[in-house]
Amino acid sequence: MTSFEELGLNKRIIDAIKTMGFENPTPIQQQAIPQLLAEKRDLVGLAQTGTGKTAAFGLPLVHFTDFDKRHTQALIICPTRELCLQITRDLSNFSSNFDNANVVAIYGGASIENQIREINRGAQIVVATPGRMVDMIERGRIKLNAVKTVVLDEADEMLNMGFKEDLDNILSETPEDKNTWLFSATMPNEVARIARNYMTDPIEVTVGKQNQGAENIEHVYYMVHARDKYAALKRIADYNPDIFGIVFCRTRMETQEIAEHLIKDGYNADSLHGDLSQQQRDNVMKRYRNKTLQMLVATDVAARGIDVNNVTHVINYNLPDDPEVYTHRSGRTARAGRSGVSIAIVNMKETGKIRDIERKIGKQFIKGKLPSGVQVCEKQLINLVNKIHDAEVNEQEIEKFLPQVYDMLKDISKEDLIKRMLSEEFNRFLDYYKNAPDLNADDRGSRDRKTSVAGHGNAQPTGRFFINLGEIDGMDQDSFRTYAADVSGVDPFDFKRINIKSTFSFFDVDPKNAQKVYDSFQFKKFNGRKIRIDHSEGKGGAVSGGGSNFGGRSEGGGRSRGKESSFRSETKDKGFKGKGQERGKGDFYSSSKKYNSDDSKREFKRRRN
Ligand code: AMP
Repeated sequence: MTSFEELGLNKRIIDAIKTMGFENPTPIQQQAIPQLLAEKRDLVGLAQTGTGKTAAFGLPLVHFTDFDKRHTQALIICPTRELCLQITRDLSNFSSNFDNANVVAIYGGASIENQIREINRGAQIVVATPGRMVDMIERGRIKLNAVKTVVLDEADEMLNMGFKEDLDNILSETPEDKNTWLFSATMPNEVARIARNYMTDPIEVTVGKQNQGAENIEHVYYMVHARDKYAALKRIADYNPDIFGIVFCRTRMETQEIAEHLIKDGYNADSLHGDLSQQQRDNVMKRYRNKTLQMLVATDVAARGIDVNNVTHVINYNLPDDPEVYTHRSGRTARAGRSGVSIAIVNMKETGKIRDIERKIGKQFIKGKLPSGVQVCEKQLINLVNKIHDAEVNEQEIEKFLPQVYDMLKDISKEDLIKRMLSEEFNRFLDYYKNAPDLNADDRGSRDRKTSVAGHGNAQPTGRFFINLGEIDGMDQDSFRTYAADVSGVDPFDFKRINIKSTFSFFDVDPKNAQKVYDSFQFKKFNGRKIRIDHSEGKGGAVSGGGSNFGGRSEGGGRSRGKESSFRSETKDKGFKGKGQERGKGDFYSSSKKYNSDDSKREFKRRRN
């Protein structure tokens, strides 16, 4: 294997990276560094994150920078603030043995004044996100006329995020004779266009096959019913007690909900999404980096550029529509030569997506089987025993308490003592998994499962429901039917006798779909408010008795619940033959906008205001 010394790097750089713990160059560093040092050339690097690509371009950049001068000689553009800070940290470390080295990060969401001051101090290397860089250029606060090298990192991500125009603007501000080094995990047409337009005869380095997921990532999918996704997530976490993972969700709302549930259920988890302030995000990332958090629940945008080593599992709570997004997600694990698992929790309808991703990454998913409750308990027990076995004992500190402790436990045999100690922690799992159902959905989509309803003992669902959504939420029969169908996956026309009231509603579904509908609304929020759904037990739709627990403020929902029977006198019941039901199915969709979660939420909000 080639050593860093053999690559031809400046001795001061080699000393710096040795202190960072870099012993040997990674494959992309072996390919790129000697070529970049030998000749001033353009370069296209096809490499995933985690391959060591930052050093592949960063070390030659530092090597060629004259730190006795103050002007900007190298510009690195990358998609996100997180990545920008990471690259800045890395390059500052690489150049730590040069006295006047100043690597400056320019990114949005922080004071531009401070950044301008840093530039004025003399920044030989600038690392920037596209939007803030354009801002700097427009304000005339940065001079790029002596830039020798521009690096475009994660070029595909930058184009995905809509930075095409900004990139064109930035590149047109830099000298014609500069060198451009472009790095991308994939090579879609847009990236190829940049390579064609801005580069001359580039060196090409590729790590792994083009568009392929990293070699050491194992891709696994678990097939569950849509309603069991959260239970499946918990089971995966419980079966992997040392998990250090990222859970990807599609929306900010879902990210928040899943994180809240995990926290409530006792996991070290938190969320990372665009609705958080910069300070909140920094705080979450800090806790994740120092492993106070075991599970980070994130949206794609928020998680871009996260560079944390040792991530053991990437979990796709929902698969992205674009297979390329999957490669970015899974690339958050198996970094720096480690191995990792990328898990997809899917329902039957998503099988097609698995196949698309397999084509994209050129690798097959393994179909996993979720462990049974007993298997989880066994795994937890063994983990606990190992922990006790390997526990560090502070002899000096514990010594003085031991005589009393020995005395207190003298009547208990060793075997009993072990049993009791383990039970202290283990009972929690035993209780939870005592009657745990098999979550694996078989290929026919049926599963023998007890239909006990939380909070309702073993009552069987009747098919008539109360829900705390009403006119105030912009609901009418049509929009409710579309929304409920979207949330539950049940046909819109299976929702009958929809009775919309001002703050809540009642509706019927066929009893065979009742459990599905009930479960699918469990973790849902509407415009930030928790949805409450309950079985309405009365015959023919009127709520029977049981009123004592109605009328109070509902948990989380903040709406009092009324009785259906009493509305009849308040408002004229239009009956269930709403417009939507009188029309044919095709008409329904053409006349009422098909519910699209985000669009419709905005639409409902607009109507409400
Ligand atoms: P990157 O692909 O540049 O995001 O790098 C992924 C991780 O690998 C970072 O944490 C780097 O610090 C680390 N790394 C890069 N090159 C080496 C190397 N030659 N030896 C050990 N670690 C490295």
